[in-house]
Amino acid sequence: MARGRGPRRPVVAISPAASEAIDAVVGRMGPGRSALFVTGAGLSADSGLPTYRGVGGLYADRPTSEGVSIEEALSGPMFESRPELTWGYLLQVERACRGASFNRGHAVIAAVEAHPDFPRVVVLTQNVDGFHRAAGSRAVIDLHGDLHHLLCPSCGWRRTVADYDGLPPLPRCPDCGAVIRPDVVLFGEWLDPEKVRQMRDELNRGFDLVFSVGTSGQFPYAQDPILRAIAEGVPAVEINPDRTPLSDVVSHRIPCRAAEALDALWSRYLSRRGG
Ligand code: NAD
Ligand code: ZN
Repeated sequence: MARGRGPRRPVVAISPAASEAIDAVVGRMGPGRSALFVTGAGLSADSGLPTYRGVGGLYADRPTSEGVSIEEALSGPMFESRPELTWGYLLQVERACRGASFNRGHAVIAAVEAHPDFPRVVVLTQNVDGFHRAAGSRAVIDLHGDLHHLLCPSCGWRRTVADYDGLPPLPRCPDCGAVIRPDVVLFGEWLDPEKVRQMRDELNRGFDLVFSVGTSGQFPYAQDPILRAIAEGVPAVEINPDRTPLSDVVSHRIPCRAAEALDALWSRYLSRRGG
């Protein structure tokens, strides 16, 4: 290790092609522009959180020890009939995320929103980790909710918790005794109509630049805003080390990890602006 040079920085491998794509996107950014960031599990992978297919192996293509698929275990109908089973998996998912925090990618998105050059920046996320708000983003539409928000479906009791430490296997409402749940969209449940309305309103207003960050794009509401932007001639950027169904149609593809791509994008934007 080099001595007297301060802490070692992580090795960042941005390929020449990715670097060129980053420069092209920086060229699209400028005062007065609005931007939409559609984010998924890949962004939080840089915080150490497992992605969809990897939540502690939970989401792998195999049944749970109870013989049901993870999608069934974490579904609305299962919560209705066997809430102890659903809670067993919710507790495991939360434990897999415990102690993690937002990363440089979330921080950059919040910094773009806070910067006077950008009058309107919106985050549309499928993530339930709450990292965007923790990083300082304000215009966040968390379509699938937030694991840290607990509620009682029976009496409306609500509480925000830092984590699930100390929760019993089947948590109950302190006011009415009913089984409580996180305010998240379980499999087989509808999205919150208010959030859907907010999303529609924002998409109808349109954006000057759209980003898809760390999502496999399997849900229509992760893909549609990007496809719609492309149809409207708006530049669309994909940040994902792997290819997705969007890869062939976006205007710019940055094949890097979310945190390093967004960090490079923002530092280059700021230095171009200052220079
Ligand atoms: P997904 O797991 O289907 O896809 C993740 C994508 O991220 C993949 O395309 C992968 O190539 C990419 N990726 C992996 N590491 C990356 C990195 N470091 N930087 C950028 N991209 C990276 O995730 P999804 O499309 O968001 O769908 C997952 C579903 O599961 C959602 O419904 C979500 O609610 C839920 N989920 C949420 C969390 C969370 O809150 N953090 C975590 C796992 C799953
Ligand atoms: Zn209650």
